[in-house]
Amino acid sequence: MQRKRIIKVKDKTFSVTISERAIKRQIKRVAEEINRDFAGRKPVFLAVLNGSFIFAADLLREIDLPCEISFVKLASYDGMNTSGRIREVIGLNIDITGRPVIIVEDIVDTGLTMAHMLETLKLQNPESIDICTLLLKPSKLQVKLDIRYCCKQIPDDFVVGYGLDYDGFGRNTKDVYTIIQN
Ligand code: 5GP
Repeated sequence: MQRKRIIKVKDKTFSVTISERAIKRQIKRVAEEINRDFAGRKPVFLAVLNGSFIFAADLLREIDLPCEISFVKLASYDGMNTSGRIREVIGLNIDITGRPVIIVEDIVDTGLTMAHMLETLKLQNPESIDICTLLLKPSKLQVKLDIRYCCKQIPDDFVVGYGLDYDGFGRNTKDVYTIIQN
């Protein structure tokens, strides 16, 4: 099937910037690093919904370690704790105490989502927590974050496709597209 170079998602236009082939190549590279770094261990992968569902599926099939996966979301709501805000990782159905954890994220932008998730997961005393992201916008990072595994760094432009959405749409493409018109 002919792949489209330009797509329209709702009212915005996007142009292809990372091909399926390039994505798969980077995923293989990162998976090899994880296979090597975690040899002899049984990591728990935590895939952050919704955006990481395709990335997680492709990454996990390149992992040859005994491992588990859980699909999670970070929920925050106002509560009665000292900071006034309660954050909770929902959907986590595996006990991560004493386990090596690898968070699988679609894209790190300001880094705030990952910082909050690390803070929340640490309360459960895992052996270690590492971040594995498909995309990273280094120029947007607002917090100090140690990102051990990253498939690709990108400029500060809005992207869709390969699981990432614009207002709920555009997740179902094989390539990643960048906005060309606001
Ligand atoms: P952060 O907390 O790092 O600022 O934001 C991370 C989340 O923002 C991602 O999980 C994703 O949902 C969303 N996000 C950030 N940049 C983009 C982008 O370029 N495209 C899409 N589709 N989502 C983005």
